[in-house]
Amino acid sequence: MAEQWVFIHDQLVPKEQAKISVFDHGFLYGDGVFEGIRAYHGNIFRLDEHLDRLYRSARSIMLEVPYSHEEMTKIITDTLLKNELKDGYIRVVVSRGVGDLGIDPFKCSQPQVIVIAQQLALYPKELYENGLEIVTVASRRNRPDVLSPKVKSLNYLNNVLVKIEANLANAGEALMLNDQGYVAEASADNIFIVQKGELVTPPGYLGALEGITRDALIQYAQDAGYQVKEEPFTRHDVYVADEVFLTGTAAEVIAVVKVDGRVIGDGTPGAYTKDLLRIFREKVRTDGHLYIK
Ligand code: PMP
Repeated sequence: MAEQWVFIHDQLVPKEQAKISVFDHGFLYGDGVFEGIRAYHGNIFRLDEHLDRLYRSARSIMLEVPYSHEEMTKIITDTLLKNELKDGYIRVVVSRGVGDLGIDPFKCSQPQVIVIAQQLALYPKELYENGLEIVTVASRRNRPDVLSPKVKSLNYLNNVLVKIEANLANAGEALMLNDQGYVAEASADNIFIVQKGELVTPPGYLGALEGITRDALIQYAQDAGYQVKEEPFTRHDVYVADEVFLTGTAAEVIAVVKVDGRVIGDGTPGAYTKDLLRIFREKVRTDGHLYIK
């Protein structure tokens, strides 16, 4: 297998040499932000939107990304090219960097930027064809007024705990509610339901991450003539929905065919989901930053 190269300490190095200090506050405290991005056929899907979210997350926690938007674009592109990837998943991490054992971020000298690019298929192909089974978990989405889900921070323990619950229930994903019992999102995906011929997704204020795939899908669906609403809904609405699907960079667009044992629709991916998946697969090749012509 070809060598994997990782961007770290301002350069691309073989992955075995990509090491950080045990005093990095990203490691010690989850103090940092990140992005997950995909490239499709030489196009980095919605790169500007991902970078904008990265800089917003960083600004919110008073972390200065030591590269400009343009420099980050070049670093990500160079990492993909060095790894000879036309298609792949890109992880960008910006941590507070090396400090002492105390929590004080002001004692950290320099933020650390890491870019990893590799191939990734989150679920086997059959699941994209047949759909996923998910369960509601007991853990709730952390409250927006405590740690805002709009900040894509390295503090993912809430999501990790939710994923553990899904794993224990042998489910492919978790349905996470917010503190008021409204549907928020999955452990790392946004959720859509189809209800009376309309697409419905929870509004951002209910506590989901503002997904780039979610945004793209809303736009593609509207362009294709579908009605889309951002409205709160409950588990009951999910159980009786005609269709349910999840969106996320890693998961892409995937149908959900069972929720807490209730079969959704006829138990197979529905017409809206299949059409939107088809449109999504077309768009991802051009909507973004082309780096291989
Ligand atoms: N929610 C959470 C908690 C996530 O981690 C992700 C993945 N980044 C998403 C939703 C989907 O967002 P995106 O489409 O930007 O990948």
